[in-house]
Amino acid sequence: MSTTSHISRLRQRIVRLIEQRQAVEKVLMDRPLLLKGTFIEVRRTCGNPGCKCARGHRHLCRQLSASIEGKARTWNVPRKYAQKVKRLTDNYRRFRRARAAWVKLNKEMLKRVDELEAALTLTDFHDEHQRQKG
Ligand SMILES: [Zn+2]
Repeated sequence: MSTTSHISRLRQRIVRLIEQRQAVEKVLMDRPLLLKGTFIEVRRTCGNPGCKCARGHRHLCRQLSASIEGKARTWNVPRKYAQKVKRLTDNYRRFRRARAAWVKLNKEMLKRVDELEAALTLTDFHDEHQRQKG
């Protein structure tokens, strides 16, 4: 049997975990579209010796890079899709971060709930009898 203050601290911790988890679940349930990968902008030369890039004005190249089934892949992104691709990959990162936080919070939640159970569980009904007398 644990002390009342121990139980009260556990309950407060669980209440905070519930609040944190709800905030994270809001992100998970927000349902914007996701695009797996990272949007990158790189400066490139095209290989044409007569091009301005050969004189230092390298081309701005927009790319999406992602790992698909364990393989790193890269796609060129047309300029008109750049903003959208960036936004969707940001959504993806945000979702993945929320998911990771959710897993972590659930892990702690399970631990705290088990601690609460242990703290609340009488090993002998005499314990409760003694407590009420005292
Ligand atoms: Zn060039």
